[in-house]
Amino acid sequence: MTSSEAFGVYVHWPFCKAKCPYCDFNSHVRHEAVDAISFAEALATELRWFGEQTPGRKVSSIFFGGGTPSLMPPKAVAHVLDAIAECWPIASDVEVTLEANPTSIEAENFTGYRAAGVNRVSWACKR
Ligand code: SF4
Repeated sequence: MTSSEAFGVYVHWPFCKAKCPYCDFNSHVRHEAVDAISFAEALATELRWFGEQTPGRKVSSIFFGGGTPSLMPPKAVAHVLDAIAECWPIASDVEVTLEANPTSIEAENFTGYRAAGVNRVSWACKR
């Protein structure tokens, strides 16, 4: 497929601290620490595959949803954003959103997210 149309990339981080009883999302609780960098590399591998299928496209928005992406280490967010930038040109006004659970927010993570390129937060679940 070849097209010059801009498009959005959705990145799913499927981990949460606990599973809310009403939740139908693809979200999981790990009893051991998540190997976030390995998971981010797996996401990057998938993105590269999609990148090969969609030459000539431009990314106008990126959304990290979950799960609870605000549990991601900033390095993992940066790794995924770097992979996206390797795959497609990025619009100069790209919106990069990270869905956040208010109770999982850590100020130092958000400094790191901002440095990685996140420019918007979406408040998510109420847990
Ligand atoms: S925090 Fe959100 S995604 Fe995670 S289990 Fe609760 S409702 Fe589902």
